[in-house]
Amino acid sequence: MALKPVDTFCNSSIKLPSSLFTLHKYELFPYERFAYNILHLGIEALNKVDLPESITVDYTKLSLDSDPWLINASITNNRSRSGDLLGFEVNLPEFLPVIIHLYIHIVANQFFDYKNLISYNQKEESLKTSIQSLFDVLNKSVQCYKKNTNSIGLAVREAYSTIGYGFNDLNDSYNHFDLLTKLIGNHEIAHAYLGQLSDWKRGPEIDCSAYELLADLLAIEWFYIHMIKNTPQTPEYFNMRGVKNFSEALCRNVDLVFESHQSLLLLMGIAGAQRMRGKITLQGSGVHPNGLLRHLLQHCHLYTLIHSNYSSDLLDEKSINFIDKKYDLIMKILLENGFISTQDVNTLINGETYQILERAIQIIEEKKLQPLKHIQMFLQSYLDTMKKKTIS
Ligand SMILES: [Zn+2]
Repeated sequence: MALKPVDTFCNSSIKLPSSLFTLHKYELFPYERFAYNILHLGIEALNKVDLPESITVDYTKLSLDSDPWLINASITNNRSRSGDLLGFEVNLPEFLPVIIHLYIHIVANQFFDYKNLISYNQKEESLKTSIQSLFDVLNKSVQCYKKNTNSIGLAVREAYSTIGYGFNDLNDSYNHFDLLTKLIGNHEIAHAYLGQLSDWKRGPEIDCSAYELLADLLAIEWFYIHMIKNTPQTPEYFNMRGVKNFSEALCRNVDLVFESHQSLLLLMGIAGAQRMRGKITLQGSGVHPNGLLRHLLQHCHLYTLIHSNYSSDLLDEKSINFIDKKYDLIMKILLENGFISTQDVNTLINGETYQILERAIQIIEEKKLQPLKHIQMFLQSYLDTMKKKTIS
């Protein structure tokens, strides 16, 4: 994305359990790609706001209450003894890249194919069954991990060999994996970019929740810039995407962006199931607001960015109508199958949500986050619209 390489004397690193280096290339690949995506965007973003361009992506440091197979990610800061900010550390559970990779192979590749969506809609296919298959593979792998004194290498091998996954399957999941991990990585880096980690003290809970929403909105905007705004206008690129011209390439990228963003919502539900003894849920945890609220806020912002920056000459109406139809169909299936609950929908219009949104707007003002001025305007208009809906 950078026009020219960032000039810095800082160092960054990726910390992996040694056992992983004895695996096959396709087994190690998800770890490398996930870390690369975080560092690629992260170094450039930190440079822009004069923060130390030093990031450690650590797959080995688990918090005491965390398990290696949990779907979560976090970012903290590194300070010197005298308190100077030295850099940042993104902590990822040991097994996370494999879980995302398996999720794509077992659930997402099938579900997000439009032809299959119709079968899911007509209840010929069951999303819950494919998610159960994912959990079955993970459970086998976790048992192997525990039986072999927490050997991550053996657990990864067990997971891939259970589903018969090999080198030739990598192509089918590469793109989706790349996009999903970019979305997750962007969010973590956005916390640092916003200055949330530069303060000594952690703010009150409502501030942390507000920062989650701000990090989400910034993350989706970076994703829009990378995947849509920077769509190359070259024959080589059109060839790679399998399209004839720029307009088609743009539509293809909008489709991919929407798809991976909805895939993240589904992954959030699966993460909820890990916390709630198998029940898929988008309910937030700790300072994290509800998953549906987070998704819809990002979707509205993304939709506004796309439609206010591209005319219908470039975004072919027929393709865009199809993308919208596909998006709506996915939401309908998620609603009808209980992945999105009435409680999730009610969260969109409750007083607590309004307070978090109001606090997010105030933070942009208080911290003088000028580049987020348009996000502030977006949040204000979203809030006004939702409040009007509640009253009427
Ligand atoms: Zn976060």
